[in-house]
Amino acid sequence: MKAMVLRKTNTIEKLPLIYTEILKPEPQQNEIRIKIRTCGVCHTDLHEIEGDLPTKKLNLVPGHEIIGIVDKCGINVENFSNGDRVGVPWLYSACGTCKYCKRGQENLCDNAKFTGYNVNGGYAEYMVVSSNFAYKIPLIFSDAEAAPLMCAGVIGYRSIRLSQIKPGETLGLFGFGASAHIVIQIALYWKCKVFVFTRSKNHQEHARKLGASWVGTSKDNPPRKIDSAISFVPSGLIIHDILRVLDKGGTLAINAIHLTDIPAIQWNLLYYERQIISVANTTRQDAIEFLKLAGEIPIKIEVQTYNLKDANKALQDLKNSKFNGAAVLLIEEK
Ligand SMILES: [Zn+2]
Ligand SMILES: [Zn+2]
Repeated sequence: MKAMVLRKTNTIEKLPLIYTEILKPEPQQNEIRIKIRTCGVCHTDLHEIEGDLPTKKLNLVPGHEIIGIVDKCGINVENFSNGDRVGVPWLYSACGTCKYCKRGQENLCDNAKFTGYNVNGGYAEYMVVSSNFAYKIPLIFSDAEAAPLMCAGVIGYRSIRLSQIKPGETLGLFGFGASAHIVIQIALYWKCKVFVFTRSKNHQEHARKLGASWVGTSKDNPPRKIDSAISFVPSGLIIHDILRVLDKGGTLAINAIHLTDIPAIQWNLLYYERQIISVANTTRQDAIEFLKLAGEIPIKIEVQTYNLKDANKALQDLKNSKFNGAAVLLIEEK
């Protein structure tokens, strides 16, 4: 099968993904094989490829926002059949027996595997996954629209939950890429006000179009303090700016798998019971709840599509905030 493969980590400008042929995988017991139609391009892919995250596997096929059709079932698979449309997110497997799994935090599992990181992912024509870690996708979404739901959407949903925002309150979003453009729609559906902080003029305009009541940069002063915040920015420098505008008792959820160091925080920025929480991975329950909610709202997904062999270009454009919404690879070339 055709795939984009990472042989050696490097800056994305050096085109580290190679378009090549690799062996088509066979589903083992309890696994399904998926003929992939689309795969979203996530910031985490960039962090893996550029070496910001420790390398787990070389000759890696990245990609963890996968939509495709079940084309072969291993023995014992009962919940899917050939022809079903499914999605695969970042959480590829969890052990089910460690203390985190037992208390419903499989996102923190010591033995978890992640799609397109520990195991091959979706920048390819096929992949295999346990049938217990794949999800049916609401019909309302096209294959391209559905892909970003699998990570940007599911982790965005976990982030807004952990931000503890309540209906009627004001939520601040810092950075406005694929995940934030989904989160704003959930927040508005929950009758919250949303302030968006981003330097990109394109992203500011996009946020306004999607219903933000105020947009600016993290250095500006919004009309009033925010009750909860979610940061999507991979820089620790922004944390001070966020705490400066976060109201007493407010929670800041940091949605970043990789963050540069946070400079020392003055106590008065954190005092009055402000909380900072990191968001790490997602659980199967997050995916199930979010996909249902996404279909109900229904969330509108803006995508910029690329052919599989142009994945390096898609990642460069992501790095440079060249588009609004999410980048998605079309596995069958257009
Ligand atoms: Zn576990
Ligand atoms: Zn992701």
